[in-house]
Amino acid sequence: MVSCVNEALVTRMREFGTTIFAEMTALAVRTESINLGQGFPDTDGPAAMLERAVEAIRGGANQYPPGPGLPELRREIAETTRARYGLAYDPDGEVLVTVGATEAIATSILALAEPGDEVIVFEPYYDSYAAAIALAGAVRKPVTLRPELGRFTFDPDELRAAVTPRTRLILVNSPHNPTGTVFTREELAAIAELCVEHDLTAITDEVYEHLTFDAVEHIPLAVFPGMRDRTVMISSAGKTFSVTGWKTGWVRAPRHCVQAVQTVKQFTTFTMGAPWQRAVAYALSEEMPWVDGLRTALQAKRDRLADGLASAGFTVYRPAGTYFVQADIRPLGFTDGLDLARRLPGLCGVVAVPTQVFYDDVAAGRPYIRFAFCKRDEVIDEAVDRIKRLG
Ligand SMILES: *Cc1c(COP(=O)(O)O)cnc(C)c1O
Repeated sequence: MVSCVNEALVTRMREFGTTIFAEMTALAVRTESINLGQGFPDTDGPAAMLERAVEAIRGGANQYPPGPGLPELRREIAETTRARYGLAYDPDGEVLVTVGATEAIATSILALAEPGDEVIVFEPYYDSYAAAIALAGAVRKPVTLRPELGRFTFDPDELRAAVTPRTRLILVNSPHNPTGTVFTREELAAIAELCVEHDLTAITDEVYEHLTFDAVEHIPLAVFPGMRDRTVMISSAGKTFSVTGWKTGWVRAPRHCVQAVQTVKQFTTFTMGAPWQRAVAYALSEEMPWVDGLRTALQAKRDRLADGLASAGFTVYRPAGTYFVQADIRPLGFTDGLDLARRLPGLCGVVAVPTQVFYDDVAAGRPYIRFAFCKRDEVIDEAVDRIKRLG
């Protein structure tokens, strides 16, 4: 990870001093570049859902909701999970509303990993995983995703070899940020078998569950034999309904796990903002057709950006899900993605994120940069025009 030394900060957090996002966003502002670094949409979620949040505030939903979340939201979460995946969770005790998936992930790790326990993560990993593992005093054990046949995947033998007697948790993010990989049934089955064999608990980050393309199916790890009762299944409204600023997430897990996570969560934030919970409960029940439209639009945006990057000379990994495209910079004569990402605004007025900052094995990620396509078409087109000047 890119870092700076800060003497005031506890040692276990020092490697997380300054994130690449802060650096790249500052660079984008300074150079007036198009920012395809950060993954947030530049259009709003469904209008009726936004209206529900306004109504909730006007209607007095302005005091502490129950710690586990509003009953109406917990009911909708359980209902959509049952209807979509055939997984049954009791809204009273097996569902917990959190401040985004980020809090769900952090509190799950804090609740379930002892200091010194090992946590397996697939790298490149979402940056909050490493920080949450460090906060818990646990140890991250990366398993590297590498390109093979046009997508990033892992070697099952490497995954198996990463398990030790100290392994406690495995974090599984599918659809995967930043590679766009959606794990296949076979890949998930291999992970599930290992969890059962070694009595591991899985934490699954499924925030892009609805954003898959080309009819690729998202399969939750919890549906595999033996997994429902050893999986903490996490999702969030941010990506599904294009409201990343609402920070409304949730956990589904067996009762004892939800209790554990809630024990930590009650002292981090206690509860989650009431108006957003009301609006998201409405959206889960009524706005899934809007999400179908979002998915279709995103697939077209993926192709728009991927085709543009390919015509600019990059080798492009067209993702099966998420907001992100990986580009291999070597065909254009570059070798180091961090160096290129720092120079890209000056060279052509576009900001991307160097993928290597999400790896412990920096060399494995060196040739890739990540572009976000959850942007208006005219923004993507202008970015592509500018990037073509590189060649
Ligand atoms: C955006 C994102 C999150 C954070 O979700 P919030 O609900 O905004 O906290 C977690 N994991 C991944 C992989 C993400 O891309």
